[in-house]
Amino acid sequence: MIISVLSGKGGTGKTTVATNLARVLDSAAYVDCDVEEPNGFLFLKPALDVRERVSIPVPSISEEKCTACGTCVEWCQFNALAAVNNKVIKFPQLCHGCGLCSLVCPEKAVREVPREIGIIETGTFNHSVFLHGILNTGEPLAVPIIKRLVSGINKITAQHVVIDCPPGSSCSVIAAVENSDCCLLVTEPTPFGLHDLAIAVELIRSMNIPAGVIINKADKQSRMIKDYCTAQDIPVLLEIPFSKSIAAAYSRGEMITENNEVLENSFKSLGIQLEALINESSCYS
Ligand code: SF4
Ligand code: SF4
Repeated sequence: MIISVLSGKGGTGKTTVATNLARVLDSAAYVDCDVEEPNGFLFLKPALDVRERVSIPVPSISEEKCTACGTCVEWCQFNALAAVNNKVIKFPQLCHGCGLCSLVCPEKAVREVPREIGIIETGTFNHSVFLHGILNTGEPLAVPIIKRLVSGINKITAQHVVIDCPPGSSCSVIAAVENSDCCLLVTEPTPFGLHDLAIAVELIRSMNIPAGVIINKADKQSRMIKDYCTAQDIPVLLEIPFSKSIAAAYSRGEMITENNEVLENSFKSLGIQLEALINESSCYS
Protein backbone atom coordinates (compact mmCIF):
# COMPACT_ATOMS: atom_id res chain seq x y z
CA MET A 1 0.00 0.00 0.00
CA ILE A 2 1.40 3.40 -1.00
CA ILE A 3 0.22 6.07 1.45
CA SER A 4 0.78 9.74 0.67
CA VAL A 5 0.75 12.17 3.55
CA LEU A 6 -0.03 15.72 2.54
CA SER A 7 -1.28 19.02 3.86
CA GLY A 8 -2.52 22.19 2.25
CA LYS A 9 0.33 24.16 3.82
CA GLY A 10 3.61 23.61 5.65
CA GLY A 11 3.89 23.32 9.42
CA THR A 12 0.72 21.33 10.05
CA GLY A 13 2.46 18.15 11.28
CA LYS A 14 2.69 16.33 7.95
CA THR A 15 6.20 15.01 8.61
CA THR A 16 5.25 14.06 12.18
CA VAL A 17 2.43 11.91 10.80
CA ALA A 18 4.49 10.42 7.95
CA THR A 19 7.51 9.48 10.07
CA ASN A 20 5.47 8.06 12.94
CA LEU A 21 3.33 6.05 10.54
CA ALA A 22 6.45 4.64 8.88
CA ARG A 23 7.81 3.79 12.33
CA VAL A 24 4.78 1.88 13.62
CA LEU A 25 3.57 0.04 10.50
CA ASP A 26 5.10 -3.37 9.88
CA SER A 27 7.47 -3.32 6.93
CA ALA A 28 7.06 0.32 5.88
CA ALA A 29 9.50 2.35 3.80
CA TYR A 30 9.64 6.14 4.08
CA VAL A 31 10.09 8.43 1.05
CA ASP A 32 10.55 12.16 1.70
CA CYS A 33 9.34 14.05 -1.38
CA ASP A 34 9.39 17.43 0.42
CA VAL A 35 12.60 18.09 -1.49
CA GLU A 36 12.80 21.82 -0.74
CA GLU A 37 12.89 21.14 2.97
CA PRO A 38 13.27 17.43 3.71
CA ASN A 39 13.33 16.90 7.48
CA GLY A 40 12.09 13.33 7.99
CA PHE A 41 15.70 12.28 8.54
CA LEU A 42 15.78 14.35 11.74
CA PHE A 43 13.20 12.02 13.28
CA LEU A 44 13.91 8.63 11.67
CA LYS A 45 17.70 9.12 11.90
CA PRO A 46 18.51 6.82 8.97
CA ALA A 47 21.94 5.50 8.07
CA LEU A 48 22.43 6.99 4.59
CA ASP A 49 24.74 5.05 2.31
CA VAL A 50 23.93 5.89 -1.33
CA ARG A 51 23.97 9.35 -2.90
CA GLU A 52 22.89 9.96 -6.48
CA ARG A 53 22.95 13.23 -8.46
CA VAL A 54 19.78 14.37 -10.26
CA SER A 55 20.20 16.39 -13.45
CA ILE A 56 17.94 17.71 -16.18
CA PRO A 57 19.01 18.10 -19.83
CA VAL A 58 19.47 21.77 -20.79
CA PRO A 59 20.48 23.23 -24.17
CA SER A 60 24.01 24.08 -25.17
CA ILE A 61 24.01 26.17 -28.35
CA SER A 62 26.84 26.08 -30.85
CA GLU A 63 27.76 29.65 -31.82
CA GLU A 64 29.25 28.40 -35.10
CA LYS A 65 26.09 26.63 -36.20
CA CYS A 66 23.45 29.05 -34.81
CA THR A 67 22.06 31.50 -37.38
CA ALA A 68 19.96 33.34 -34.76
CA CYS A 69 16.77 32.41 -36.64
CA GLY A 70 14.79 32.58 -33.36
CA THR A 71 12.85 29.33 -33.91
CA CYS A 72 13.92 27.85 -30.54
CA VAL A 73 12.95 31.09 -28.75
CA GLU A 74 9.47 31.00 -30.31
CA TRP A 75 8.88 27.37 -29.33
CA CYS A 76 10.19 27.47 -25.75
CA GLN A 77 7.08 27.54 -23.53
CA PHE A 78 9.01 28.52 -20.42
CA ASN A 79 10.77 31.71 -21.60
CA ALA A 80 14.11 30.04 -20.98
CA LEU A 81 15.53 31.43 -24.24
CA ALA A 82 15.65 34.97 -25.62
CA ALA A 83 17.01 36.46 -28.85
CA VAL A 84 19.16 39.49 -28.16
CA ASN A 85 21.46 41.20 -30.71
CA ASN A 86 21.50 38.23 -33.08
CA LYS A 87 22.38 35.86 -30.25
CA VAL A 88 20.36 33.38 -28.20
CA ILE A 89 20.56 34.00 -24.44
CA LYS A 90 19.74 31.12 -22.07
CA PHE A 91 18.07 31.30 -18.66
CA PRO A 92 18.98 27.88 -17.26
CA GLN A 93 16.84 28.20 -14.12
CA LEU A 94 13.72 28.57 -16.25
CA CYS A 95 14.55 25.59 -18.47
CA HIS A 96 12.33 22.53 -17.85
CA GLY A 97 14.57 20.23 -19.89
CA CYS A 98 11.78 19.41 -22.34
CA GLY A 99 14.21 19.08 -25.27
CA LEU A 100 11.96 20.94 -27.71
CA CYS A 101 14.60 23.53 -28.69
CA SER A 102 16.96 20.82 -29.93
CA LEU A 103 14.13 19.23 -31.93
CA VAL A 104 13.03 22.43 -33.70
CA CYS A 105 16.46 23.90 -34.44
CA PRO A 106 16.87 23.76 -38.27
CA GLU A 107 20.67 24.05 -37.98
CA LYS A 108 21.12 21.24 -35.43
CA ALA A 109 22.90 23.83 -33.30
CA VAL A 110 21.40 22.68 -29.98
CA ARG A 111 22.96 19.90 -27.95
CA GLU A 112 21.56 18.74 -24.59
CA VAL A 113 23.89 18.82 -21.60
CA PRO A 114 23.07 17.76 -18.02
CA ARG A 115 22.58 20.38 -15.31
CA GLU A 116 22.54 19.13 -11.73
CA ILE A 117 19.53 20.32 -9.70
CA GLY A 118 19.81 18.18 -6.57
CA ILE A 119 20.51 14.78 -5.08
CA ILE A 120 18.75 11.67 -3.82
CA GLU A 121 20.03 9.85 -0.75
CA THR A 122 19.07 6.31 0.19
CA GLY A 123 19.54 4.49 3.47
CA THR A 124 17.84 2.50 6.20
CA PHE A 125 16.02 3.08 9.47
CA ASN A 126 14.76 0.23 11.70
CA HIS A 127 15.71 -2.23 8.89
CA SER A 128 13.41 -0.34 6.48
CA VAL A 129 14.17 1.69 3.36
CA PHE A 130 14.63 5.44 3.68
CA LEU A 131 14.75 7.73 0.63
CA HIS A 132 14.85 11.48 0.38
CA GLY A 133 15.56 14.11 -2.25
CA ILE A 134 17.30 17.43 -1.72
CA LEU A 135 16.79 20.25 -4.22
CA ASN A 136 19.80 22.56 -4.61
CA THR A 137 19.30 25.96 -2.96
CA GLY A 138 17.70 28.45 -5.35
CA GLU A 139 16.55 25.78 -7.82
CA PRO A 140 12.90 26.26 -8.81
CA LEU A 141 12.26 22.79 -10.31
CA ALA A 142 11.34 20.20 -7.70
CA VAL A 143 9.31 17.90 -9.95
CA PRO A 144 12.21 16.02 -11.66
CA ILE A 145 13.62 14.98 -8.27
CA ILE A 146 10.19 13.98 -6.98
CA LYS A 147 9.50 11.92 -10.12
CA ARG A 148 12.84 10.15 -9.70
CA LEU A 149 12.01 9.39 -6.04
CA VAL A 150 8.55 8.08 -6.91
CA SER A 151 9.89 5.93 -9.76
CA GLY A 152 12.26 4.31 -7.22
CA ILE A 153 9.27 3.06 -5.18
CA ASN A 154 8.76 0.15 -7.61
CA LYS A 155 12.06 -1.34 -6.45
CA ILE A 156 11.13 -1.17 -2.76
CA THR A 157 10.02 -4.56 -1.47
CA ALA A 158 8.40 -3.24 1.75
CA GLN A 159 4.74 -3.98 2.36
CA HIS A 160 3.94 -0.29 2.74
CA VAL A 161 5.49 2.92 1.44
CA VAL A 162 4.80 6.20 3.23
CA ILE A 163 5.36 9.27 1.05
CA ASP A 164 5.95 12.57 2.81
CA CYS A 165 4.65 15.01 0.18
CA PRO A 166 5.61 18.64 -0.38
CA PRO A 167 3.21 21.14 1.22
CA GLY A 168 0.59 22.95 -0.86
CA SER A 169 -1.29 21.77 -3.91
CA SER A 170 1.12 22.49 -6.75
CA CYS A 171 2.43 20.19 -9.49
CA SER A 172 5.08 18.97 -7.00
CA VAL A 173 2.31 17.50 -4.87
CA ILE A 174 0.65 15.89 -7.88
CA ALA A 175 3.98 14.30 -8.88
CA ALA A 176 4.39 12.86 -5.37
CA VAL A 177 0.82 11.61 -4.99
CA GLU A 178 -0.15 10.29 -8.42
CA ASN A 179 0.67 6.58 -7.90
CA SER A 180 -0.65 6.38 -4.34
CA ASP A 181 -3.32 3.96 -3.15
CA CYS A 182 -4.60 6.40 -0.53
CA CYS A 183 -3.90 9.76 1.08
CA LEU A 184 -3.78 11.14 4.58
CA LEU A 185 -4.63 14.83 4.71
CA VAL A 186 -3.14 16.48 7.78
CA THR A 187 -4.74 19.67 9.03
CA GLU A 188 -5.06 21.89 12.07
CA PRO A 189 -8.34 23.13 13.57
CA THR A 190 -8.04 26.76 12.44
CA PRO A 191 -9.83 28.69 9.68
CA PHE A 192 -6.57 28.64 7.66
CA GLY A 193 -6.25 24.90 8.23
CA LEU A 194 -9.81 24.38 7.00
CA HIS A 195 -9.23 26.55 3.94
CA ASP A 196 -6.09 24.61 2.94
CA LEU A 197 -7.74 21.27 3.71
CA ALA A 198 -10.56 22.13 1.29
CA ILE A 199 -7.99 22.77 -1.47
CA ALA A 200 -6.22 19.48 -0.72
CA VAL A 201 -9.56 17.62 -0.79
CA GLU A 202 -10.38 19.11 -4.18
CA LEU A 203 -7.00 18.01 -5.53
CA ILE A 204 -7.29 14.44 -4.24
CA ARG A 205 -10.87 14.15 -5.51
CA SER A 206 -9.72 15.22 -8.98
CA MET A 207 -7.18 12.38 -8.87
CA ASN A 208 -9.75 9.89 -7.59
CA ILE A 209 -7.63 8.73 -4.65
CA PRO A 210 -9.36 7.64 -1.41
CA ALA A 211 -8.42 9.86 1.53
CA GLY A 212 -8.89 10.33 5.26
CA VAL A 213 -8.15 13.32 7.48
CA ILE A 214 -5.89 13.65 10.52
CA ILE A 215 -6.47 16.61 12.81
CA ASN A 216 -3.23 17.70 14.45
CA LYS A 217 -3.26 19.85 17.60
CA ALA A 218 -6.90 18.88 18.04
CA ASP A 219 -8.89 21.00 20.49
CA LYS A 220 -12.39 22.45 20.88
CA GLN A 221 -12.06 24.10 17.45
CA SER A 222 -11.81 20.66 15.81
CA ARG A 223 -15.59 20.74 15.38
CA MET A 224 -15.28 22.97 12.30
CA ILE A 225 -12.97 20.42 10.61
CA LYS A 226 -15.25 17.52 11.57
CA ASP A 227 -18.34 19.32 10.27
CA TYR A 228 -16.57 19.96 6.96
CA CYS A 229 -15.45 16.33 6.73
CA THR A 230 -18.98 15.09 7.45
CA ALA A 231 -20.36 17.37 4.74
CA GLN A 232 -17.70 16.15 2.29
CA ASP A 233 -18.10 12.49 3.35
CA ILE A 234 -14.41 12.16 4.26
CA PRO A 235 -13.55 10.23 7.41
CA VAL A 236 -11.51 11.79 10.23
CA LEU A 237 -9.17 8.90 11.00
CA LEU A 238 -7.17 10.34 13.87
CA GLU A 239 -7.00 13.34 16.19
CA ILE A 240 -3.60 14.15 17.67
CA PRO A 241 -4.36 16.21 20.77
CA PHE A 242 -2.93 19.66 21.40
CA SER A 243 -0.47 18.81 24.14
CA LYS A 244 2.67 20.29 25.67
CA SER A 245 4.35 16.89 26.02
CA ILE A 246 3.82 16.09 22.31
CA ALA A 247 5.16 19.52 21.28
CA ALA A 248 8.19 19.05 23.58
CA ALA A 249 8.90 15.58 22.14
CA TYR A 250 8.68 17.03 18.61
CA SER A 251 11.03 19.90 19.42
CA ARG A 252 13.58 17.40 20.77
CA GLY A 253 13.42 15.53 17.45
CA GLU A 254 11.71 12.55 19.08
CA MET A 255 8.97 10.37 17.58
CA ILE A 256 5.64 11.17 19.27
CA THR A 257 4.64 7.49 19.23
CA GLU A 258 7.81 6.36 20.98
CA ASN A 259 6.81 6.82 24.60
CA ASN A 260 3.09 7.15 24.11
CA GLU A 261 1.28 3.81 23.89
CA VAL A 262 -2.10 5.39 23.10
CA LEU A 263 -0.73 7.30 20.12
CA GLU A 264 1.33 4.32 18.99
CA ASN A 265 -1.80 2.15 18.87
CA SER A 266 -3.75 4.91 17.11
CA PHE A 267 -1.09 5.13 14.41
CA LYS A 268 -1.03 1.33 14.06
CA SER A 269 -4.78 1.30 13.53
CA LEU A 270 -4.40 3.90 10.74
CA GLY A 271 -2.96 1.16 8.52
CA ILE A 272 -6.10 -0.97 9.01
CA GLN A 273 -8.41 2.01 8.47
CA LEU A 274 -6.63 2.96 5.25
CA GLU A 275 -6.89 -0.58 3.90
CA ALA A 276 -10.63 -0.51 4.63
CA LEU A 277 -10.89 2.85 2.87
CA ILE A 278 -9.18 1.48 -0.24
CA ASN A 279 -11.40 -1.61 -0.30
CA GLU A 280 -14.50 0.48 0.16
CA SER A 281 -13.57 2.86 -2.66
CA SER A 282 -12.75 -0.03 -5.03
CA CYS A 283 -16.29 -1.38 -4.42
CA TYR A 284 -17.73 1.88 -5.81
CA SER A 285 -15.32 2.34 -8.71
S1 SF4 B 1 14.73 22.39 -23.19
FE1 SF4 B 1 12.61 23.10 -23.33
S2 SF4 B 1 12.43 24.52 -21.62
FE2 SF4 B 1 14.61 24.24 -21.92
S3 SF4 B 1 15.20 25.88 -23.26
FE3 SF4 B 1 14.74 24.14 -24.58
S4 SF4 B 1 12.58 24.41 -25.15
FE4 SF4 B 1 12.98 25.76 -23.40
S1 SF4 C 1 16.71 27.45 -33.61
FE1 SF4 C 1 18.88 26.89 -33.77
S2 SF4 C 1 19.67 28.27 -35.28
FE2 SF4 C 1 17.73 29.10 -34.67
S3 SF4 C 1 18.24 30.55 -33.03
FE3 SF4 C 1 17.78 28.61 -32.06
S4 SF4 C 1 19.76 27.61 -31.86
FE4 SF4 C 1 20.03 29.26 -33.32
